[in-house]
Amino acid sequence: MGEALMLKSLYDIWLEAATEALAQGESTRHSLRPQLERFFDLLVQAVETRDPAWLDSVVYLWVWSQTVTDLNSARITIVGVLQVLVEVTARVARERLGESEALELLTTLMPYWLHVLEYAANQEMRAQLDHTTTELQRAQRELERLDKSKSDFISVAAHELKTPLTLIEGYTAMLKDVLEDADEALQEQARPLLDGIARGSERTREIVDDLIDVSLLDNDMLKLAFQPLWLGQILRSLADELAPVVRERQLTLKIQRFPGHDRLIFGDVTRLRQVFRNLLTNAIKYTPDGGRITVDGRLLPGFIEIRVADTGIGIAPEDQHIIFNKFGRLGDPQTHSSGKTRFKGGGPGLGLVIAKGIVEAHGGSIWVESPGYDEEKCPGSTFHVLLPLREEEPDAEKESLFAKLAAYIKKGEQS
Ligand code: ADP
Repeated sequence: MGEALMLKSLYDIWLEAATEALAQGESTRHSLRPQLERFFDLLVQAVETRDPAWLDSVVYLWVWSQTVTDLNSARITIVGVLQVLVEVTARVARERLGESEALELLTTLMPYWLHVLEYAANQEMRAQLDHTTTELQRAQRELERLDKSKSDFISVAAHELKTPLTLIEGYTAMLKDVLEDADEALQEQARPLLDGIARGSERTREIVDDLIDVSLLDNDMLKLAFQPLWLGQILRSLADELAPVVRERQLTLKIQRFPGHDRLIFGDVTRLRQVFRNLLTNAIKYTPDGGRITVDGRLLPGFIEIRVADTGIGIAPEDQHIIFNKFGRLGDPQTHSSGKTRFKGGGPGLGLVIAKGIVEAHGGSIWVESPGYDEEKCPGSTFHVLLPLREEEPDAEKESLFAKLAAYIKKGEQS
């Protein structure tokens, strides 16, 4: 008897055994049968024509429509289903055929099973990959949606806070005026209270302004007003502004006369002041009393690099990217002391995001280097700011060139 005939002779019992092995309840048995019948027919056809590819269509359907897996409550894979069918076939052949016939049939069927198992495994992998890709895309869309609602929230909150804040500031100023005419005793009592309110609203104003800047950056709406400037001058005037806190914290702040400090370049003075003010107040905040902060720089082809180095607590390598993200402050928010320049004083974690946004809007880049975080040994951190040496107001074409070059230099220096 030929192998195809041998196989056909097993049809009824094979179908019964295969349905038994795979189906759970009566209803699944009912819907599974026609599929197993089809599989068996195609197996016979494959053996008759010596072409295992006959089986591909049914396996393809099983994998992509998941009918068999759905039917089986154990939810085994199609490869698993095929393995069950291999076992069933072997068992039925042994029971029904003579030993040598069974052996002959099973040997003949071997390449067909191998082909169909490999095909099923491939298809299942592709299906899994498809599924994972869809899931990833879904997660990505969800993340984008969340980021958008976070950014919308920041924008709304900042603008809503602005109005009452302006009222507080206005009434505080008016109260101060009224107090001028009050008697001496009342003045003495009220002045520190009013100063307290003024300090509080000033700090709130700074946070609200930061939130507004972040939402401008988020929405690509940060506009720069380019004008000629000297970086050395900006840095020295910031050092003067911060001198009282530097003294109070017994720190040393040194602005070196680095090459290029007195070179006239184009940039947004107010925004660049903001960048270096953020870096310097951070250096003050994260350096213990008695420490040193040094600002120097150098000229590179087409760029100027400014470095703000401190002898502070440092930043762990794994955190060196996080700190440039929104709310990327490190450590437990509860343990931060408040106050802008106190050692480890808290902040909302927006300073570096804004600095990064401003520097990148200038076509530059910003990054940090630090051997690690250690509050005892204080290994320090160095923030690098790379800015294009512009001798005129920027034009769009040069912009993208500067941005590419800045990213290239940053990469080279970090590696
Ligand atoms: P904030 O200071 O308001 O928390 P920033 O965006 O300015 O937010 O800084 C983010 C985080 O980066 C800080 O919370 C701090 O953990 C870390 N960091 C910034 N500058 C320094 C520095 N010079 N030394 C050590 N850590 C720093």
